[in-house]
Amino acid sequence: MVRHLKRLILFLILMFSLLLPYRALASPHIDSVTATMIGSDPSCRYYIYEVRAKVNNAIWCDCFTLNDYFMVYVEYPAILRGTWWTPKYPCINHSCPPQSVEEIILVGVPPGATLAIKVVAGRPLAGYGGLWVYTLAQAPSEPPQNCECELSINVSPSDISPQKAGSANTTSTIMVSTTKPAPPEGCTVNFKVEPINTIGHNHDGNRPKGTVTPATLTIPGGSPGAVSAEYKSSEVSGEEKIIAEIKGEKKGEATVNVKVPGLSPLVSKPSLLPWGGTAEHKLGDNNYGTGYTLSAVYYAVGKYAKDHALNTAPDVYLAVIDMSLPYGGLFDINGDWDTPHDWHRVGRSVDFSKYYKDSGGNNIQVVFYDEDGNVIKTTDLITDDDLDKYFAEKKYKCTRKEKSIGKIHYECPK
Ligand SMILES: [Zn+2]
Repeated sequence: MVRHLKRLILFLILMFSLLLPYRALASPHIDSVTATMIGSDPSCRYYIYEVRAKVNNAIWCDCFTLNDYFMVYVEYPAILRGTWWTPKYPCINHSCPPQSVEEIILVGVPPGATLAIKVVAGRPLAGYGGLWVYTLAQAPSEPPQNCECELSINVSPSDISPQKAGSANTTSTIMVSTTKPAPPEGCTVNFKVEPINTIGHNHDGNRPKGTVTPATLTIPGGSPGAVSAEYKSSEVSGEEKIIAEIKGEKKGEATVNVKVPGLSPLVSKPSLLPWGGTAEHKLGDNNYGTGYTLSAVYYAVGKYAKDHALNTAPDVYLAVIDMSLPYGGLFDINGDWDTPHDWHRVGRSVDFSKYYKDSGGNNIQVVFYDEDGNVIKTTDLITDDDLDKYFAEKKYKCTRKEKSIGKIHYECPK
């Protein structure tokens, strides 16, 4: 019995001596902890942190041998992420150098949060929890700053018709998307419209332009999103820039072409003089038409010239004035963005001078002879009734309008 008691005492002493180092265990020591905000999550409402810790566990290491661990984790308010870290330098001869934690990435930290960073010594296989040491880090109270209102803008369709040009296709959809997470308050976009090429209007002033509805809209904060607005053309054709601004700063732009498609320039032919350019609408820009209408003009003038023997006269022309501008639309003949009439928008209107002209555009007298060479008449005036029939033959169906404007005006059906 005594022997048994002795053995028991010896065993207890042995066990106690084995436990002693644990009782003498000192806390691992946190030399430094940094918690740096490195970004925000896709909702743009939370921080992403990088945590680096240096832990000096020399004393603690004294009690352990190889393959011991320590753990660093961060609490907010529960564990967000913890990692067991193997000491880089194993304990040898009861000595081990400081260890460092490379990084812990924390997501979901709201502004102003307190981060509790804990370090614990451990021997996982033995289930040993060791002792905690704490340090604190504070998230900034301001919302994350790396979220920006960065936009991409797209207009579809990019080619539309001006108003009053007989087409319903006068609106485009503007899609504006954020390409980065937006700040929590969202991105408020203001639209501006700027003409960039007025295509034939060689004058400025108070140019009408398209409108955007709504003119202001807000893309909600958080993950990238998209909103749409509508661009509606004015009566004036041309290229216009739709600019998306945020707080007065341009963040994106897209171009829309307001045009009547398919117009081509009237070209000079024998007895046919493209004419009528002004400082506001230069010669060359002022006589565009549809294929049908140009063909009707070429045909009518050619036939008229032959029937009236103008084709044998050296310098006699029928002058065509102000058909349409290259992109059609409002043709403000006086350069005031207003118009005396609603024609000349779609390339199907043709004005002839009432007077025969020479190649320089001067009104001239023309002498007409009968078959025997006798003078029938001398006149500078074109007889419009006479001209009509060349537009009204079965080949072309253009009709004369507006007799009172001092010109001979035809409208073609297409
Ligand atoms: Zn103009």
